[in-house]
Amino acid sequence: MTRYQLFINNEWVDPQSRRWFDSLDPYTGVAWAEIPRANAEDADRAVTAAANAFEGPWSRISASERGMILHKFGQLIERDASKLGEVESRDNGKLMSEVMGQVRYMAKYFYYYGGLADKIQGAIVPIDKPKVFNMIRYEPMGVVVSITPWNSSLLLTAWKMAAALCAGNTMVCKPSEFTSASLFELARLAQEAGLPAGVVNVVTGFGAEVGEPLIRHPKVQRIAFTGGDEAGRKVYAAAADGLKRVSLELGGKSPNIVFDDADLGRAANGVITGIFSAGGQTCMAGSRLLLQESIHDEFVERILKITQSAKVGNPADPDTEIGPIATRPQFDKVMNYIDIAKKEGARCVAGGRALSGPGYGAGQFVEPTVFVDVSNDMRIAQEEVFGPVLSVLKFRDEEDAIRIGNDIRFGLAAGVWTKSLHRAMLMSERLKAGTVWINNYRSTSYTTPFGGFKHSGIGREGGMEAVREYMETKSVWISTELEMPNPFVRKY
Ligand code: NAD
Repeated sequence: MTRYQLFINNEWVDPQSRRWFDSLDPYTGVAWAEIPRANAEDADRAVTAAANAFEGPWSRISASERGMILHKFGQLIERDASKLGEVESRDNGKLMSEVMGQVRYMAKYFYYYGGLADKIQGAIVPIDKPKVFNMIRYEPMGVVVSITPWNSSLLLTAWKMAAALCAGNTMVCKPSEFTSASLFELARLAQEAGLPAGVVNVVTGFGAEVGEPLIRHPKVQRIAFTGGDEAGRKVYAAAADGLKRVSLELGGKSPNIVFDDADLGRAANGVITGIFSAGGQTCMAGSRLLLQESIHDEFVERILKITQSAKVGNPADPDTEIGPIATRPQFDKVMNYIDIAKKEGARCVAGGRALSGPGYGAGQFVEPTVFVDVSNDMRIAQEEVFGPVLSVLKFRDEEDAIRIGNDIRFGLAAGVWTKSLHRAMLMSERLKAGTVWINNYRSTSYTTPFGGFKHSGIGREGGMEAVREYMETKSVWISTELEMPNPFVRKY
């Protein structure tokens, strides 16, 4: 068993509680690491370290140097990608092939934001008054707290960290209690990259015990949260008490819409990628498949063929295509939704069962599952399952697809499959989602914003837009008037 310590002010320290909890390997079900159970005192220590670093050494480092440190950080991530990937895969059960892709790509966020660090320019505004200059400055906010879920601990933290540090902030990172270990490994690299003490801190534990104290800490200016919308609401409320700046990346129930004119082979592969990548445990899962009536039966046949060929099993095995469910509560939740769907009258045409026995470790596996005859008012069509469960719905025409696609509280993403430029443009305009993919699915990049409409969140991560969300805007007025007139002397 590896026993981890908290990372505060570039030091490895025990939690004040002197308590640890186990992290389980989702494949074997066996505890493999001990994670420090941090509390409000640890939160205070970490925030104080981050606040001191912000006022002290980090503020004296030029933007160019900051960029170079971020670049070095990216190189170290690439150097240690295998180690980072192994730890993350062991903690959340994601396929090694998927995790390695994520970790290598994650380095690019640090290169991109490293390059951007000394290119964030203010402005001189052509003002409507004589003898005065107005200057706009973009300044870092201070201490940023990142709170992340279990499905992609490293990548989702990196999205926040690279942008927040680029802007000149310092950070306290709180990963999910289910997948904390990989951030400790990342913290080692932060230190090796040359980040001064206190710029990056990692505290671990439970939402109510350490997450909330972090959010409520008076020296914290900005919260960057990714997680479910239930926790998101609590985070938003706690942040509101202190009028903190917040970004929320929440859940989704994204429609993947296939028109009758699409290249159906290509669309089928895209639909499978959309729902079964990471075993459906992604916020952007295309979990509502909307099929135009005329191609419904043929398309369902296509996806069933691919679904039934999927190899489910050990995430460390390079041939595996779908791994375990990351946590036991999540496994129970997915199985419960399968029951709910059956009771609601949806018809299960693939999967639907838990998998156990040889090759399935501790049995935390769900067969890739497809439901047809789903109507949009069913819970299986409206609620986020976060597992390998696809709901198939029918639509008549473009208007019907738009109506069903938007008739949901989420708005994270949507996919559209068509050869018609007209349809592609129409759908990209009318779908209420932060990302619309036309003839592809799941593409993301450090260069482009990602985030949700409606209950899928607030704010954007990625691209230049994200950096602004980690900065305050300041207007500076400079008068060149030699005299300041007495305001009580009337001029008329
Ligand atoms: P979760 O909401 O249960 O937990 C997320 C994080 O919030 C954890 O670190 C948890 O400890 C912390 N937390 C919980 N309650 C808190 C509180 N009151 N105060 C402070 N912190 C608190 O989510 P999860 O189950 O770990 O992850 C799955 C969810 O994350 C899904 O809903 C998924 O859609 C969402 N997600 C969204 C995105 C996105 O970019 N939009 C990406 C990945 C996952």
